[in-house]
Parts: sequence; structure tokens; C-alpha cells
Amino acid sequence: MRFNTALLHKASRPDKETGATNAPIYQVSAFAHESAEALEKVFAGKAHGYAYTRIGNPTVTAFEQRLNALEGGVGAAACSSGMAAVTLSLLNILSAGDELIASSALFGGTIDLMSDLSALGITVRFAEHITPQELAPLINEKTRAVFTELVGNPRLDIVDVKAAADFLHSQTVPIPLIVDSTTATPYLANPLKLGADIVVHSTSKYINGGGNAISGVIVDGGSFRFSPERYPTFENYCKFGRMAYIAKLRGGIWRNIGACLSPINAFLNGVGLETLGLRMERLCSNALELAHFFEQRGVSVNYPALESSPYYGLCQSQLGGRGGAILTVRAGSRERAFRLINSLRYALVATNIGDVRTLVIHPASTIYLHSSAAARESAGVYDDTVRISVGIEDIEDLKEDFSQALDHLEG
Ligand SMILES: *Cc1c(COP(=O)(O)O)cnc(C)c1O
Repeated sequence: MRFNTALLHKASRPDKETGATNAPIYQVSAFAHESAEALEKVFAGKAHGYAYTRIGNPTVTAFEQRLNALEGGVGAAACSSGMAAVTLSLLNILSAGDELIASSALFGGTIDLMSDLSALGITVRFAEHITPQELAPLINEKTRAVFTELVGNPRLDIVDVKAAADFLHSQTVPIPLIVDSTTATPYLANPLKLGADIVVHSTSKYINGGGNAISGVIVDGGSFRFSPERYPTFENYCKFGRMAYIAKLRGGIWRNIGACLSPINAFLNGVGLETLGLRMERLCSNALELAHFFEQRGVSVNYPALESSPYYGLCQSQLGGRGGAILTVRAGSRERAFRLINSLRYALVATNIGDVRTLVIHPASTIYLHSSAAARESAGVYDDTVRISVGIEDIEDLKEDFSQALDHLEG
């Protein structure tokens, strides 16, 4: 099955009873059972069935299974948001006293989360680049995981997942690699196939596509062995073998924190998922053409599929030459960045990515408002940076729009 066929048919069959082509919206909180014994069996995991939507819901399960199949995992857990997915993917592993190594080029919300982790007694060490060279000096006795984005938002650096995973797995005590693949999407790459152990997505973005429902997902690759000596909280889950991580997650912090995905949002994201391939094809081609346009206009532009990007080579080898749908430009000053943004006719000023509409934002004054200047620059956010999340509009209209906005800047 190729990509677009897989989006429609992989782990997705019409409803057995009704033939409904989409998993129906089971907008309920609880599922009644015939007897106390029957409910007991469901709770004990001895019978298939649903009890309570925070723990499981058929619409949500359908969404989880499709993403799991697309990423090639052993199991998935959907969450109320991408941030919930990021948080829970980490808290399923980390305890007070542990250390995490994270990329410094992460999405602003995830950077903020790292401060919350320190309040829980978890130390976070940042690496400018997730490469063996930069990881090596940060690894110590307490390192329990490494977290990175595949394509940094908005630094647009590409991590060589295979190189990083091979390096982490070849340590005397192997370390798991968790990859946030939101900006890459399964269209550009499957991190698990490249060697990552866990993949997370903010499915609010490209997978939803229409900007109409927040959600996230954690997919377990089943590849990492969480030994109870190193990861004592896994003691009771080792019996699940390759499913240990997802079993612990679903049986533990994921259900206990309660950041479950609502059935209606699972439905909306499932519908969006089906056109991911078509949209990504268009988004990548629009973004590349817009990036070339900026180059021709002499504007400093960062896009990984441009030959001027330091990540051009990795973009070709790991992402099939497709650079995704985000690019950043530098306007020259904060005032000019604001003026550029304010002159646009089509692009909406909004904090989101992966919408079918083109969106622009000044990250320094918004998403990175709480970051220090050093953390901001490390994430590729300068005072004059404008982030563009390219949409599916006709590219001639987009170019005309940015062209008149640039004229306005010069005028
Ligand atoms: C948006 C985003 C998140 C957070 O997702 P929400 O659904 O907004 O909670 C996490 N990681 C990346 C890379 C993102 O772009």
C-alpha cells in the first residue's frame, strides 16, 4: 500500500455493524455493561470493551490505530493536545533525579515545558544539535531519554535520526530517542523506521489540516527495552515485552493525568488525516516556490529544501527532498517584520501551523515571549524573524501577496 492509499485504508475498515465508512462519533462518557462481572472483566483487561472515555473510546481507538499503522508502531495513545502528548511521552519514562537531553531548537511550548520538568526534579540539558558529537558530552549516569523534533519549528534544522538513534543505542547503557515529528508528518518520514523509539505528533497541525481540532498522539515503536534496573517504574510492565512502554503509558500516567482526546476531535482529525498526502504535496511545492521567490527578491529565507540551507543534504537523503510547509524570513528589524505581516492580504496572523490557509507570525513576540534572548536565538528566532506556515492557496496569489507586502516595505 502506498502512502495515499494507506491514509484511507490502513487500519481503517467500515464499521462492522453498520458499514459506516468513517468511525462514528461515540460522543459518550461511559459504556454500560450487562453485569458487574462483565464490567469487572473489561476493567481487568480480560475482555475487550469500553468502560469510560478517558480510558478508551471507539472513535479515539480508530484514530490511534490509523496513526499507529502509518508510523509503524506497536501501539498508540491519543491525547487532548500535542503538548499533552509531548509531556506524557516524557513522564512515562522520567522520574525525579533523572536527566533528559533535549534539542534547543524545540517548539516554544515544549521549551516552556522543560522548565516545568525541572520543578519535578528532572534536569534538562540542551544540545544545540542532536548529533553524536554534541550528545556525547551531555550523557551521564542519569540520562534517561533524548527528545528532539525531526524538523525543528521554527529553526528548520533537520535531525539525522538514524545517526542519533544508532549512537544512543550503542551506549553501554542504551538511551531511548523520542522524536516530535509534527512538522515532518508521516508524509516526509517515519522516525520509527529511521531508528527512533517513540514518536509524538501534535495532530492539531498537518494531520488535522483544517485547523479545527486540537489533539496529539504518542506512538510506541516497541524497539526500546526499558530495563527495570535502569527504569524502576517499568518493573511491572516488563511482562508486556515490546508493548511495555505503551502498556505502562495507557495503564498509568496517560489515563491518570486524564488528557484524553475527545471523540469529536478524534473524528475531525481522522477525516483530516485522509487528505494529508494531497495537502503535503501541495504545501511542500508551494513552500519551495515561495522560498525561491524570496531568494529572488533578495530576502534572507530559511527553508530546508533550498540549496542554501545547511540541511539541504539531509532534506534530500532523509525526507526525499521535501522541505515541509514552514519557512522563515528575516525582515531586517522587528518593525519591518511587523510591517510585512500587516501588509499581507491573504496570510492570516495566527499562531498555528499546518492549516490549509497560509498563516504568519512574529515568533519572538508571541510563541517565544517567555524565552530568554539566548534560548530564542538558539531556536532560530530573531527579532526580525517572520514564520510562514504556507497554505494550499494558488501559489501565484501567494507570491503576488508577498510581493506587494515587500514592495510596501521598500516604499
Ligand atoms: C504545535 C506543536 C506542539 C504542541 O501541540 P498542541 O497541539 O498545540 O498542543 C508540539 N510540537 C510541535 C513541533 C508543534 O508544532
